[in-house]
Amino acid sequence: AVEIDKVYKSFGRLPVLRGVSMTVREGEVACLIGPSGSGKSTLLRCVNHLEKVDAGRISVHDRLVGYHHKNDRLYEMHDRDVAKQRRTIGMVFQRFNLFPHMTALENIIEAPVQVLGKSKAVAVAEAREHLEKVGLSDKAGSYPTQLSGGQQQRVAIARALAMQPALMLFDEPTSALDPELVGDVLAVMRQLAESGMTMIVVTHEMGFARDVGDTVAFMDGGIIVEHGDARQVIAEPQHARTQAFLAKVR
Ligand code: ATP
Ligand code: MG
Repeated sequence: AVEIDKVYKSFGRLPVLRGVSMTVREGEVACLIGPSGSGKSTLLRCVNHLEKVDAGRISVHDRLVGYHHKNDRLYEMHDRDVAKQRRTIGMVFQRFNLFPHMTALENIIEAPVQVLGKSKAVAVAEAREHLEKVGLSDKAGSYPTQLSGGQQQRVAIARALAMQPALMLFDEPTSALDPELVGDVLAVMRQLAESGMTMIVVTHEMGFARDVGDTVAFMDGGIIVEHGDARQVIAEPQHARTQAFLAKVR
């Protein structure tokens, strides 16, 4: 489970997260929606310790993000331990960030070999399984420039899965794609959700949020305004701000 407890974060004098609390259960797909600038990406980045919170706590599978517990006190983790912790969390961004000079297969095996110390043969065999899962068995030898945006994004998902993450974070993974490519990526995410992966998904795809999400949280101005059952929040939002937002994006 992911526990986000009263998290605050400012950039300079700009408060971006103003007391965000949220729990994501094991195997749950939590969708985060809200207007531009509301703090969605910042919250995801805090979960992954790409940003440090100013106050509050985040834990992933009962482990505090960025801190050790020792003798009833909290100690900041060393960078090495932060990196280790981050490995258990997969993240897929809006812009595909594949290594451009590596094939799809090479992209996927890089971290398992370099970081987890897997043998190349094992990593390649597993990478091929992940490529099959995302429907790209025939693209193992292709370079990112030879792939469509949707295919690149699916390779990025396969690459994240190769690290056997306990949690997957998605930050608008389809919003940079041409409309006809969105469906394939969402289908892979839906399949991943059905396999029981715990996921936090920032998305503007309300159909996905309603159908695949277990819960939806609506963020505005650095707080979670409304949070509940996905279908309920989308079909019958309780707050005026949620209603106004959904009326605009529908
Ligand atoms: P969008 O839907 O456009 O992606 P968002 O909800 O993801 O928006 P964030 O990216 O979390 O919003 O940004 C929230 C606010 O924090 C914005 O005002 C943004 O300009 C500011 N911000 C984000 N990152 C930084 C940073 N590294 N330094 C300064 N300000 C930042
Ligand atoms: Mg964002």
